Amino acid sequence: MKAARLHGVKDIRVETAPDPTPDADQILLATRAVTVCGSDLHYYLEGAIGSDRPNEPHILGHEFAAEVMEDGPLPKGTLVAVDPNRACGACEWCAEGHPNLCPNVKFSGVPPYHGALAEYVVARPEEIVAVPESFTPTDAAMLEPLGVALHALDLAHLRPLDSVGVVGCGPIGLLVLQVAGASGAGLRVVVDPIPERRELALRLGAEHAFASVDEAKDALGPRGVDVVIEATDAQRGPEDAAKLTRIGGKLVLVGIPEGNRFSMDAALVRRKGLTIKMARRMGHVYPRAIELVERKLVTFEPLVTHRFSLDESPRAFELQASRADGVIKSSVEL
Ligand SMILES: [Zn+2]
Ligand SMILES: [Zn+2]
Repeated sequence: MKAARLHGVKDIRVETAPDPTPDADQILLATRAVTVCGSDLHYYLEGAIGSDRPNEPHILGHEFAAEVMEDGPLPKGTLVAVDPNRACGACEWCAEGHPNLCPNVKFSGVPPYHGALAEYVVARPEEIVAVPESFTPTDAAMLEPLGVALHALDLAHLRPLDSVGVVGCGPIGLLVLQVAGASGAGLRVVVDPIPERRELALRLGAEHAFASVDEAKDALGPRGVDVVIEATDAQRGPEDAAKLTRIGGKLVLVGIPEGNRFSMDAALVRRKGLTIKMARRMGHVYPRAIELVERKLVTFEPLVTHRFSLDESPRAFELQASRADGVIKSSVEL
């Protein structure tokens, strides 16, 4: 089959790769859309995330939609979203209902497991979710980052009218912003250095958009906001987000920092008595993610700014990494 494979830093080649062979409990699916994630960009720009480093040409892509190829539990031609998180189902954390924390997980696109930037993928029936007919393949792929945004707010235990700050207005931040609105948030404030991203955030429900946390604090006063979600790829992102959080407030860290490190001023977070949570992927959130879109509480339309063919995958990554041309999310459509 044709696949886009990462050979090294900034080196993606579209070439022939072996077809995936389904295990007895898996079915073969035809890929229809793959959206490029910030986590994919770490592999693209740095070659690794922490200890996860591919040793051979690697197929990225974990936000994807596919089509059922043979009649089975779902009829042939059904468009499905695929949960990339294949948890073991047997460990202590799976048993507790936290498959996102499973240490034995086989996650699509995380080496050594190939992702979806290819003509075919395999999945177990319980990992696939049929989507409403109104969904495009890219809509279905976007359910994965929407699920990440939902899980981040689940961790925050948002109360009605809590003020919410979003630091980083990439796709995840802009989805968090929308889900916070749907969840009864009060004042919504965003911080991002890119003007187009701030403008889009204002269109999607933010009341204020600032280029930096210092600017936000100057304008809003010293109190800060109740709940802050950090969704940057910057090492300073978590500390910035902590500065924006009120005394006794909650901070959820979703972003993956460049170089796999971040640091925070200890006195800042200690004196405020912050509750800090690390978001790790998501749990079983697809049904709510689908309903958010069906009820038009979340829109993907302004977020998916660029579309590419599988052959153009290298350009999709180049553009997404450059943040040029107003890009928010690139989708590779097959
Ligand atoms: Zn992702
Ligand atoms: Zn497990």
